[in-house]
Amino acid sequence: MVDTKNQYLAIKEEVDTAIQTVIDSAAYINGKAVQDFTAHLAQYLNVNHVIPCANGTDALQIAMMALGLQPGDEVITPSFTYIATTEVVALLGLTPVFVDVDPVTYCMDFTSLKKAITPKTKAIVPVHLYGHAAPMEEILQIAKEHDLWVIEDNAQAIGCDYTFSNGVTKKTGTMGHIGATSFYPSKNLGAFGDGGALCTNDKSLADKMAMIANHGQSARYYHDVVGCNSRLDSIQAAVLDVKLKKLDSYNAARQKVAKYYSDAFANIPAIKTPAIQKYSTHVFHQYTIQLHGMNRDAFIQHLASKEVPCMIYYPVPGHLQKMFGSNTHAHLQLDVTNALTPVVCSLPIHTEMEEDQLLHIVEAVKSFIQTI
Ligand SMILES: *Cc1c(COP(=O)(O)O)cnc(C)c1O
Repeated sequence: MVDTKNQYLAIKEEVDTAIQTVIDSAAYINGKAVQDFTAHLAQYLNVNHVIPCANGTDALQIAMMALGLQPGDEVITPSFTYIATTEVVALLGLTPVFVDVDPVTYCMDFTSLKKAITPKTKAIVPVHLYGHAAPMEEILQIAKEHDLWVIEDNAQAIGCDYTFSNGVTKKTGTMGHIGATSFYPSKNLGAFGDGGALCTNDKSLADKMAMIANHGQSARYYHDVVGCNSRLDSIQAAVLDVKLKKLDSYNAARQKVAKYYSDAFANIPAIKTPAIQKYSTHVFHQYTIQLHGMNRDAFIQHLASKEVPCMIYYPVPGHLQKMFGSNTHAHLQLDVTNALTPVVCSLPIHTEMEEDQLLHIVEAVKSFIQTI
C-alpha cells in the first residue's frame, strides 16, 4: 500500500545527517530540531501557533481538553472515519454524535450535521478524509451561528488547500479553532515513528494546549491543570523537517497516481472513482473507489492473487463499533455511511510508484471487471 523504504532512500543522505545531528547534540527531547520543525510547519500552514505532540490521537484529545468540554457535552463527528477521531470523545466522557458523510467527498454531510445539533452540542470535528477537504465554509458558518468549537481532523490531508467562495485559500487544519494532525509513517507527512501536531491562530488556546501536552505545567514542577505527557521527539522532528520541504512534491506524486487510476477506470461503470470538489484540492492520502455490482471479497481476492494489496477504510463505521455501547446517538440516520462501508476499497498509493506498477494494478482490476 505504501513504500516508505524507497521514499527514505531518495532522501537518505539528508535524513541521515539530520538524525546524526540530533544524536550528536544529545537533545533528544524538545531540542532545536523540534523548535525548527514547529516553526517551519507554522510557516508552511500559514498559522500562528503549532504545538507538537506524540501522535494524532493525542492531538485530538489535547484539543478537546483545551476547550474545557465537560462530561455530557455532545461532539459531532462523522461515523465514517478512523476510530481515533471518535474514540477520544468517549475517552474524555463526552458524547460522540455521529453524522453522515457526503457520498461524493466522503466528508461530513452538512444536512446531517445541521440535524444533529442540540442544545448540548459543544463542538464539531470535521475530518478531511482521504485527503479531500470537508465543506468548511458551511461548517464554520453553522458553528458560528450556534457558538460551537470546530476542531479539524487533518491527519489525512496535510497540504490540502480549501478555497472559500470569496476566493481566499487556506490550508486544511487552519480554518477551525484548532487543527489536529498525525505524522504516522504512512501519512502524507510521515515520521520514522509516531508524531503529531496541533495548530491554531488563538494564542490562549495555543498556550493551553502546550501546557496540557506537558503535564499541565505552567512553570517547572507547578501544575495548574490536569494534562498528559505528549511530546514529539527530536529525531522525529529532524526527519519531519527534511520531509516537510518535499511535502508539496510528495502530494503532487500522489495526485499523479490518482489521475492515472481515474483515467484508467473512467469508462468502467462498476467502479466509481474519487471526485474533487472545486473548493478543495485532493492530496490523496488514500485512493478509494466504490465497487458496484460485484462481490468485494472476490475483487480483493483476485487482486491478492496478482500480488496487488488493497484495504478497506473502514470496514465498521464508528456508530457500529462495540466500544461506544449506548454512548452514541445511533438513532441518527446514517444511510450513506451504511451504504459506503460495504463497497469502498482503497488501492495502493504512495510517492514512489512506478508506471509499471500502476499498469500492473490497473490490469489486475480490469481483468476482474471482465469476469463480472
Ligand atoms: C491517523 C489518523 C488519526 C490518528 O493519528 P495517530 O498518529 O495514528 O494517532 C486520527 N484521525 C485520522 C482521520 C487518521 O487518519
